[in-house]
This record gives sequence, C-alpha cells and structure tokens, in this order.
Amino acid sequence: MLQLHSIMRARAGIWQSLVVGMVLASGCWPATAWAAERSHPQSSLYPLYKLYGSEYDVDWAVLAAIDRYAELTKTKTAKQEAPYYGFSFYPAAWAGIANPNADDMFAPEIQLFGGLGQDANGDMLALPFDPADRIKALAHWLDMESGEDEEIAIWNLFQDPVAMDRIDGFARLFRTFGLSPTGSCFPIDKRYNYTVKHTFGAGRSYGGRRIHEGVDIFASYGTPVLACSYGYVELMGWNRFGGWRIGIRDANNMYYYYAHLSSFQKGLHQGDLVRPGQVIGYVGSSGYGPPGTSGKFPPHLHFGIYKDTGLHEWAFSPSGYLSQWERQKQHVTRETVLERKS
Ligand SMILES: [Zn+2]
Repeated sequence: MLQLHSIMRARAGIWQSLVVGMVLASGCWPATAWAAERSHPQSSLYPLYKLYGSEYDVDWAVLAAIDRYAELTKTKTAKQEAPYYGFSFYPAAWAGIANPNADDMFAPEIQLFGGLGQDANGDMLALPFDPADRIKALAHWLDMESGEDEEIAIWNLFQDPVAMDRIDGFARLFRTFGLSPTGSCFPIDKRYNYTVKHTFGAGRSYGGRRIHEGVDIFASYGTPVLACSYGYVELMGWNRFGGWRIGIRDANNMYYYYAHLSSFQKGLHQGDLVRPGQVIGYVGSSGYGPPGTSGKFPPHLHFGIYKDTGLHEWAFSPSGYLSQWERQKQHVTRETVLERKS
C-alpha cells in the first residue's frame, strides 16, 4: 500500500515547468476548456465524475467532493506546483514509486511500474493535469483502495477527521443540489422589522477579550431566521456565549453562524441539508450563561461568516454579503429538504 507522503503531492519545480510546457505545447488545454465554462469551474467536470464514477463503481458525488475539498484547502505552494483544479496525486505515486522517471507521463511505462496515472482517451499519455486522466486515476485508486469501505480510502487521502466530515457533507450537498446551486438569502425574514448593526471587529464585554466576530441584527422575539445558503447543519445546540445557536456550512467551506435564538425550527436536526430562505429558528436573546439563560440583552440575531482553508479558519465581516442579500427577493419556506441518496 502507498504511504501518505507518496500519495499527496508536495513538491515540484521541474514538475511545474513540465506542466506549463506541455500545456503550451498542446495548446488546447486548459485555456479553452476553462474559458468556455462560465459557471463554477467544477461544473464542466461533472460528466467526468459521472463517467469514471460508474466505470469504477465509485459515487460521482464523492469524487466531486474530494476534488472540491482538495481545491479549497490547497496551499499557495501546492497551487503553484499543480496549477489545475482539484485533487492531485504526488508525482511519484502517479508515475510509480519504483519508476526511475518520477515525472513519467507515458501510460504504458506508468502501468509497468504500478503508477496510479491513467490514460483516459487512449493517447498513451497519463497527464495529471488532464481532467479526464486525473479523475479516472482518482476513481481507479478509490476503487482499488476501498475494498469494502470507501471511507478508509478517503481517510488515506487526507488523514484528517475534518476532511472526512467536509467531504461527506459536500457529497451530500452535490447529490441533492448539484455542483453549483445558485441562490442566497438575507438571514432575517424581511417582512418583519429589523435593524442591522455593523459592528464587526468591535470589542465586547462578556467572555474576556474577544472581538465581535459578526454583525447583530436587532428584531423582535420570534422573528424567523433564515438559512443564507445551500448547506448542511454542522452544529446545533447551546453555547454559553451564543446561547441556542446553529452553524451551517456550504460546499465552499463557508460557515454561517446564527446565535442567540429563542428556539430552533421544529423538525430541523443537526446534519440536515438546508436551502436559502429556509426557516431554521427564531430571534431571541439566549446566551451569556448556562443553558436556558435568556434576556441579558435585547433580542437580536448574531450572524457571523467564517472561511476555512483547511489550515486556518477565520471570521470576516459579513456586511458586504448582507447588503447584497438584503436587496434580493426572499422565498421563505418552512419545508425541509428532501435529501437525495444517490
Ligand atoms: Zn453579536
């Protein structure tokens, strides 16, 4: 079995110049492929996930989720070393560990040395930057490694419990909503009165030296709180700062945090998928004490957005998004999402 260091890529130099050189030489990829793609950069890969997913009996949504997670958590260096979308194998794993030519892209030779590189279109080349070769290789590897358990194979790719959770969540979102669902929503039902206080970064009194990682939207008790995006409920429950709070993550690894609720929407559970405009709870003043504490401050929704790159997660000011969403028409719904399982 291949060890992690040989699977994950982390070096290049010569690799990068090779890739750039070959792209220039072939002249057709990736410029045309990506330029033609106007929506999410991953949407054009959908037919490849479906094709190689079915060829190797691997869930297409899992392939797409691995690619999405790898892309969203790539370091700058990794991006320079593998300047193409999604997951990439370490060159030695692609070429075969015993292969004297670590950057080998000649498919028959790669096969001889047991490399993971695959030739999808019969041109005798296994090009790690060709989406078809790359996705075929990933599907083939998952099929080989999975045995009875796909999760173990995915674990071997990232060896990180957070990655496992995110890939599972992304795959569930992709199955139900597709790779690139569009739509967003202001987090408060606009038919009710509310006032947005843009106080991101301000100091606050409770809980020691913490800055205010969000915006407060003041509204009456019971005002419906809405999901802003497509996502899954990653967290739901009590926290002594946030009171009754919900955290929703989308497939771009953005985390939306809603705090101080008076109650959650009936029937909504941790793990559930949500869509923009779906009622998830109601404005309250819970928090700043043990479970059930309420009324220590005027009712409001504390709303924060966090971005996660794998190594770091940080809050950024949601004000820009909020102003944009506030101008959009709302489709408020209490209907829960019917999740597609395949
Ligand atoms: Zn707040």
